[in-house]
Amino acid sequence: MKFCPMCQLTLETIYIDEQPRTGCPDPACGFVFWDNPLPVVAAIVEHEGHIVLGRNAAWPREFYGLITGFVERNETVEQAVLREVNEELGLESEITQFIGHYPHFRKNELLIAFHVKAEGEIILSPELASIKHVHPADLVPWSSGTGDAVSDWMRKQGYAIPTVES
Ligand SMILES: [Zn+2]
Repeated sequence: MKFCPMCQLTLETIYIDEQPRTGCPDPACGFVFWDNPLPVVAAIVEHEGHIVLGRNAAWPREFYGLITGFVERNETVEQAVLREVNEELGLESEITQFIGHYPHFRKNELLIAFHVKAEGEIILSPELASIKHVHPADLVPWSSGTGDAVSDWMRKQGYAIPTVES
């Protein structure tokens, strides 16, 4: 955000309680761009005894992760995670467990992770390049973002956590 949405002045770094923020230089306007983190839901999807990991078509490298997505207006996080699983994998699912919430500072997101059990035949959305089925005991949590949710879930299920990939 470059310009004040209230008065169109160029936004500058201003200090509020000694914290640098992006805001309107006109004190009479007082607009502050708080840049609050966006809530993102994440699902560990269990399907036929395995966990379904997806590779996003937009990701440059070979990386398989959880099914994730933004919460829409007038939607609970529970509705959002079930919708995302349906949109990305074509599966009906139900939430079995809330795993936790995790900060993702680099992307300015707040991750909210669930374990869901899904049924049906997988129909990939164009958002996903491919998927893979991994036995829960063979998951290797990654070191950023949703990887923490995977380790917490594995620990709760009693699986040993392998050395984290960097
Ligand atoms: Zn302004």
